[in-house]
Amino acid sequence: MISVADQHRAMGAMLLTQVRQADARVPAERRVPRTAAEMRARINTRLGQSCGQCDGAGGRTEDTSSGGVSRQNWVTCTACRGTGVA
Ligand SMILES: [Zn+2]
Repeated sequence: MISVADQHRAMGAMLLTQVRQADARVPAERRVPRTAAEMRARINTRLGQSCGQCDGAGGRTEDTSSGGVSRQNWVTCTACRGTGVA
């Protein structure tokens, strides 16, 4: 039997996949930033002060999904200590 929680997880994974596919169809320079890190990266890039390690995002998302469970952790950039500024 499939539980409601499993159905919610499956729907969340499906929506995330669809959003990422839709984003991939938009050229990078026209793509709307969806997270604070993407907004930070865009600002730092425009100001020409991006950290070389994280491209101005201040860190990266680490995907540790397994066994049908979606898990993503934020890993702060050690070079800029999360500021995204070089
Ligand atoms: Zn950095």
